[in-house]
Amino acid sequence: MVDLELIRSDFPRGQFRFVLFDFDGTLSLIREGWPQVMIPMMVDVLRQTGTAEDDETLRRIVEEFVMRLNGRQTIYQMMQLAEEVKKRGGQPLEPLAYKHRYHGLLMQRIRGRIERLAQGQATPAEWTVPGSHALLENLQRRGLTLYLASGTDLPFVRREAELLGVARFFGEHIYGALDDYQNFSKKMVIERILKENRLAGEELLAFGDGFVEIEEVKRAGGVAVAVASDEVNRRGIHAWKRDRLVRAGADLVIGDYRQQEGLVRFLMGE
Ligand SMILES: [Mg+2]
Repeated sequence: MVDLELIRSDFPRGQFRFVLFDFDGTLSLIREGWPQVMIPMMVDVLRQTGTAEDDETLRRIVEEFVMRLNGRQTIYQMMQLAEEVKKRGGQPLEPLAYKHRYHGLLMQRIRGRIERLAQGQATPAEWTVPGSHALLENLQRRGLTLYLASGTDLPFVRREAELLGVARFFGEHIYGALDDYQNFSKKMVIERILKENRLAGEELLAFGDGFVEIEEVKRAGGVAVAVASDEVNRRGIHAWKRDRLVRAGADLVIGDYRQQEGLVRFLMGE
C-alpha cells in the first residue's frame, strides 16, 4: 500500500502527458531551512520601525505572508515586507535590496552544501527528497514531458538542478525567477504548457510543496500532488505544510517518493 492521503477520490487519472515540478522542498533539499532565515530577518526589519508589537506577534504576521506567498518569486515576499514597513510608519528599502540581504544570509547557511555537492563529497541523494531520481526516471520512461518551475532565481535553479543530477530530466524546460520579475510566474508557465501543447487540464499533473503552485494547477484544471515534505527528518508528512496545501486545493498528499512506483501506478490508473 502506498503511503498517501487522498483528499479527492474522483480526480481524473491516467490521462497525464505533462508533469510540472516545483524545485525547493519538492525535489531539492539544498535550501532546507530557508524560512528560518527569511522570517527572523523580516522580524528584525519590522522591529526597527519602532512598532509596539512584540516579537511573537511580528513573527506570526511575517510567517503568514511568507508562507502564503511561497511558490511565487522571492521578490513578492520582499514587496510585502516593504508594505509592512510602510504600514508601521517606516521607510522601506527597495524590495530588491531586501532580497539581496536575504540571499546573502541564506547563502551562509547553504554554501557548504553546494560546495560539498560540487566537490563530490556529498551525493545528490543526500540533498533531494527521497526517491526523486527514481520518480523522474519513471515518469520520463512512460513518455511524459517534465517541466521544472521555481520561485528561486533561474541561474541558481539551473546550477542546483545540475548538482543534484535532475536537470537532464527537464532539458530546456527549466524556469525560475527573473530580474524582470513580471515575465515569469508559475501561472504563466502553466498557461504556456496548456496552450503550446493544446492540453486539457486533466492532462497536466503537478508536484509541489508551496501554496501557489497547487492553487494555480487546480485553477488550470490539473491534478495537484502536495509534497508535504519534512525537510529535516526526510520522512513522513509535515503536518503544517499538509494543512496549507489541502486548503490550496491539493488532490492528494505525500511526504516523499520512497513509494514512487505505487504512486505512479495509482496516478496512471493502473
Ligand atoms: Mg517549494
